Amino acid sequence: MAVAALVVLLGALSVASMLDDGAAGGAFPDRPDDAASTPLGVPAARAGDDGQYRLIATQPDGDEPVTYDPCAPIHLVVDPRTIVEGGMRLLDQALDEVSEASGLQFVVDGTTDETAPDDETVRSPDGGWLPVTVTWSDPVASPKLKGSVAGFAGSSSVERDGRRWFVTGTVVLDGPQLARILDGRRGRASVRSVIMHELGHLVGLDHVDAPGQLMQPEGDETLTRWGAGDLAGLAAVGSGACIPY
Ligand SMILES: [Zn+2]
Repeated sequence: MAVAALVVLLGALSVASMLDDGAAGGAFPDRPDDAASTPLGVPAARAGDDGQYRLIATQPDGDEPVTYDPCAPIHLVVDPRTIVEGGMRLLDQALDEVSEASGLQFVVDGTTDETAPDDETVRSPDGGWLPVTVTWSDPVASPKLKGSVAGFAGSSSVERDGRRWFVTGTVVLDGPQLARILDGRRGRASVRSVIMHELGHLVGLDHVDAPGQLMQPEGDETLTRWGAGDLAGLAAVGSGACIPY
């Protein structure tokens, strides 16, 4: 019997930032230099609601998902304080899996030693959106990682003309726990699956109680690939509208 060895919890960190375009000076930055006029990628699957995925947030006026802008890459920085051996490569592989399924593109800008800003901060001091922070942490620095929780993630959204977009977010991983998982059988694949699960939260998928899906609330070490529901959900969150800068 498959033992749910990895418990990865806390999908619902999504914060509807109070920022909207009515703020003085506008909450939205200028169009990013690397934004295109059409989506950068194409989802692998058709977006369909087969009941095998759940969204973290929907648009104010309907059932459509809140998503990142598919016309611009999502920038990330990595705080590697407790990173596992080969962790950058595992993160890259997990990001590739999300890109392939969703069409969303990611750019890892490098490492940081700064603490991730609070959930309300969406703009970078440099002028654009704040990059997503991937923090390799531990249960002392991040009490939400206590017990068997291996990670958590979520994104902040902003609104323009009645439509919301995710623009930045955080992924927090329990480095010491993932190092122990890495030492086990299927170690690399298991750690990569945890990162994929958390990246699923980042781009807008919530937990789903459906067998065979990586977005189940409890990890299953025999699961190392997206299930059909995960793929449908990632296609949905990869098929949002582009931000009209
Ligand atoms: Zn989760």
